[in-house]
Amino acid sequence: MAKTVEKCSFCGREKRETRMLIAGLTAHICDSCIEQAQTILHEELASEKSKALPEFTLLKPLEINKYLDQFVIGQDEAKRVIAVAVYNHYKRINHVKDVANDDVDIEKSNIVVVGETGTGKTLLARTIARMLNVPFCIADATALTEAGYVGEDVESILSRLLQVADFNLAAAERGIVFIDEIDKIARKGDNPSITRDVSGEGVQQALLKMLEGSIVNVPPQGGRKHPEQKMIQVNTQNILFITGGAFDGIDKKISNRLQTNKIGYKTDKKQQNIDKDNLLQYITPVDLKAFGLIPELVGRLPIVTFMHTLDRKTLRRILTEPRNSLIKQYTKLFELDNIKLTFDDEALDFIVEKSIEFKLGARGLRSILEGIMTDAMFELPSKPSVKSLNVTAAFVEEKFRKTSMAHLKVA
Ligand code: ADP
Repeated sequence: MAKTVEKCSFCGREKRETRMLIAGLTAHICDSCIEQAQTILHEELASEKSKALPEFTLLKPLEINKYLDQFVIGQDEAKRVIAVAVYNHYKRINHVKDVANDDVDIEKSNIVVVGETGTGKTLLARTIARMLNVPFCIADATALTEAGYVGEDVESILSRLLQVADFNLAAAERGIVFIDEIDKIARKGDNPSITRDVSGEGVQQALLKMLEGSIVNVPPQGGRKHPEQKMIQVNTQNILFITGGAFDGIDKKISNRLQTNKIGYKTDKKQQNIDKDNLLQYITPVDLKAFGLIPELVGRLPIVTFMHTLDRKTLRRILTEPRNSLIKQYTKLFELDNIKLTFDDEALDFIVEKSIEFKLGARGLRSILEGIMTDAMFELPSKPSVKSLNVTAAFVEEKFRKTSMAHLKVA
C-alpha cells in the first residue's frame, strides 16, 4: 500500500514544502497557515475589543503633580506644565463625550519637552501614562522616514500603541505616545529646503497628520504597509503626543531672540534679570521653529516646556528618593537573600561624583552602582552567615577602581 503523504489540511502543502507541519487528531497545519491564522485572530480580537474601555480616574493638576513627585525628582516647571496639559487633555475627552454638539471645540494640545538626554523626559511621560492607566509607547523619531523610503513609516508608531493596548482600539485611541529625539528630524537651518530630505522635513510632514488628529490606516502588525494587508483605522484625535529632544544648540537661538527683544523694548532691566546659564527656561515655539521644526509642526505642539540639567543635589536625590529609586531596588534585591543592605552618605556622594565626572547623568548612576555591587551580589548569596552589608565610601572606591568605567577618560 502506498504511504500517504502528510499535508497541511488548510493549504494543502506537503510536509516537505513547509518549515513545520503540526499534527492534530485528524488534521495537520503548516507554519505559514499558523501565521496567517494568528493575523486573522489579532484583527478579529481588535474589532471585538474595540468597544471595551478600561476605567481611568482623572486627577486634578495638583494631584497629578503629587503623583509625579513620587517618581520624578525636581523638574518642577515641566511637571506643572504637563500636569495641566494632561488634565486639560483628558477633561477635553470627557467633555467631547458628554456634550456631543457643544459649540466650543477644545483643541488638543500636544507637548514638546526640551532637555538634555537622561534628564527624565521619558520617565515623565511614562509615569503620566501609568497614572492614567492608558496605553503608552515610545517611538524614536530618528527611525522614522517618509512613506516609500527605507525605514519605519510614521504609522508604525500607532501599530506599537495598538500592540501595547492589546489591540483594544478604544483604549489605544486615548493613549499617550512619547516621540523621542524629535530634534533630530529638524531641517538644517530656518529656510525651507527645495529638495526634500528623507529624514528631516518629509518626516515632519508625515507626523503632522497624525499629531493634528485624523484617521490613520495602521497595519496591525507594524512593519511596512503592503496592499493585501487589512488595516485598522485609528483615530488620533484623542491620543496625546509628548515629544522630547535635546535640541543641542537651541540656547543660542534663545539667546539671539532675547537680544533682539532688547532693542525693541529698551528695557535693560528686563535683560539683567535673564539667567544666562539656564536659557532653556525661556524657550518658546519661536525657538523650535528657528531650530528647524516646520511651522505647521510647531503649531501642533503648542505646549513647550523644558528640563533642567541634573545637578549634584538632584542626582543625589534620584539615588534614594523616587518610589523605585536605585537604592530601594538594591536594598530589596538583597533583602530577598535576607541581607540588610545599607549605604553610608559618603558612599552615595562618591557615586554621584563619578556620574558627574564622567558626564553620565542619571543613567550613569545605575551603571556605576551595578559595577560596585557586582562582587557582593555574586558572593553573598552563597554565604548564608552574612546577614548585613554596609556600603562605605572605602568599599565603593575600591570596587569602582576594579570596574571598566574607572579607566574611562573624562570627556
Ligand atoms: P530622557 O528621556 O530625558 O533621555 P529618561 O527619562 O530616559 O531620560 O531618564 C533615564 C533614567 O534616569 C530614568 O530611567 C531614571 O531612572 C533616571 N532619571 C532621569 N531623570 C530623573 C529625574 N528627574 N527623577 C528621577 N529619575 C530620573
